[in-house]
Amino acid sequence: MSNYWSKRLNELEPYVPGEQPRQAGLIKLNTNENPFPPSPRVMEAMKQAVNNDLRLYPDPTDERLRTTIASYYHLSEKEVFVGNGSDEILAFAFRAYFDEDRPILFPEISYSFYPVYAKLYGIPFRTVPVDESGAIDVSAFFQDNGGIVFPNPNAPTSLALSLEQVEEIVSRNLSQVVVVDEAYVDFGAQTALPLIRRYPNLLIVQTLSKSRSLAGLRVGLALGHPSLIEALNRVKGSFNSYTLDRVAHAGAVAAFEDEEYFQHTRSEIMRIRDRTIKQLQDIGLWVAPSSTNFLWVKHGRVDAEEIYSRLREAGILVRHFSAPRVKPYLRITIGTEAEMDALISQLSEILVR
Ligand SMILES: *Cc1c(COP(=O)(O)O)cnc(C)c1O
Repeated sequence: MSNYWSKRLNELEPYVPGEQPRQAGLIKLNTNENPFPPSPRVMEAMKQAVNNDLRLYPDPTDERLRTTIASYYHLSEKEVFVGNGSDEILAFAFRAYFDEDRPILFPEISYSFYPVYAKLYGIPFRTVPVDESGAIDVSAFFQDNGGIVFPNPNAPTSLALSLEQVEEIVSRNLSQVVVVDEAYVDFGAQTALPLIRRYPNLLIVQTLSKSRSLAGLRVGLALGHPSLIEALNRVKGSFNSYTLDRVAHAGAVAAFEDEEYFQHTRSEIMRIRDRTIKQLQDIGLWVAPSSTNFLWVKHGRVDAEEIYSRLREAGILVRHFSAPRVKPYLRITIGTEAEMDALISQLSEILVR
């Protein structure tokens, strides 16, 4: 709090990202990063981009990256926007589509950045119920609203809605924008991409941070009707003309060009995930049926916060949230097979006591 701060900032509680510990040797399963390195072609492209051209500003229209993504998804480049992480695109989207006089909707258990953006811009919101199993009450999206945003698959519950459910939400809200945050879609859920040519109110947001091992590069993308993309460009042009640097452009283009590496690493993660779910169930944990690169788990007897602390003492970092609805759970990122073996062995020790 400070008298020098705006009223709105004084009332705002910023989002707190998962810890990035300095301690070496920790098994880091707390921020849904990919355990595999970026594609070697990405590394090479970025090294090539570190040259004298860095004295020049990057392309403010992100042309080459947008063309690459458009051809990857069989879209026109007018249907593609890129930004400095999908967090930035979400922040732009809230300003681009939502107003101060009508509440927007998002699930009550969801990405905790949404209420922060809403408060930053003074956009009112209501939440849609999520039951004990993590299922979103889709019918609650059919009430009057000023816009909708939800992750699919949802975070931190790891559960996906079907394409039919997403279409129902989009088609019953034709006079507002529906933003579908597909940060984890590459790990086995259905993308809403087949809907964007039919629904000019649908914006899909994706990221290179999770399935393409590039959290450190900060690249996200949005796909939708050219008019929705133009709105994002207007917000961008009112904030910062150069959100992606030259090195990020080069790395992100190469990431979309190495399809084989992408398919290999994402299927490895899904394989390790499905094996880990069984092992966790065998030692008595409840695990949500995940369509992501993380698991939402709970133990009937031992408190989540205690498991979190014991794992931490053993050098394994997972995520625990303290909000009332989510505090019985832990969110555990899928790491390498060896990291998951270490997790299972520590958990078995913690839970027998
Ligand atoms: C990780 C995540 C993001 C943010 O990703 P960046 O592109 O790294 O900013 C957005 N939405 C959800 C639901 C996420 O989990």
